[in-house]
Amino acid sequence: MNIVLLGAPGAGKGTQAAKIVEAWGFPHISTGDILRKAVADATPLGLEAKRYMDAGDLVPDPVVIGLVKGRLADDDAGKGFILDGFPRTAVQAEVLDGELDSMGKSIDAAILVAVDSKVLVDRLTARRTCRGCGKIYNLQNNAPAKVEVCDACGGELYLRDDDTVETVSNRLNVYELSTAPLVDYYRDKGVLKEIDGDRPVDDVFADVHTIVKG
Ligand code: AMP
Repeated sequence: MNIVLLGAPGAGKGTQAAKIVEAWGFPHISTGDILRKAVADATPLGLEAKRYMDAGDLVPDPVVIGLVKGRLADDDAGKGFILDGFPRTAVQAEVLDGELDSMGKSIDAAILVAVDSKVLVDRLTARRTCRGCGKIYNLQNNAPAKVEVCDACGGELYLRDDDTVETVSNRLNVYELSTAPLVDYYRDKGVLKEIDGDRPVDDVFADVHTIVKG
């Protein structure tokens, strides 16, 4: 199954993607994760992307589109994939459709994880991410057993540079302006599935499960 996860920063896309991977094994293609790795490795791409990411702005379309095209062509994406954080603009959505079309594929479900914007700022600033395996925690409702230590791999938990109060409000504005219109794009295509993301992780996943199971 070819899935797009839609939703504002902090809606829980990464958490749900990890659970889909666990249940079905589809590769998780997160443009944010790919870009953060490039930044950590200080590659030319990472150096270019960092200034946009630190400000909470979008990295230019051609850069991100190039990354995703390459990843979709990998063998493991043949049996299905989960796109998380992509597409984020109308141009990205259209290029994605064209690319999939040329591969004889299409998006089967665009799952919108809907969360009220008032909840998102608190969620993002309480989010902690593992440096080792990328697992996501929330200090308020999904805390690790030991402070700042990942339950899964023992790695260090950190606050993403763009999960600070200052950057979060710009990221939410950018979402409303550039990405929220994609909800209509996928609704028009008849593949939009909206779920309430303001519930415990497993309750949200129960709905995701029903959609992916088909
Ligand atoms: P995320 O982990 O999805 O919240 O992404 C973190 C940051 O990476 C975003 O705030 C953007 O700066 C950049 N980014 C990730 N995905 C995209 C995308 N599809 N288009 C443009 N920028 C992106």
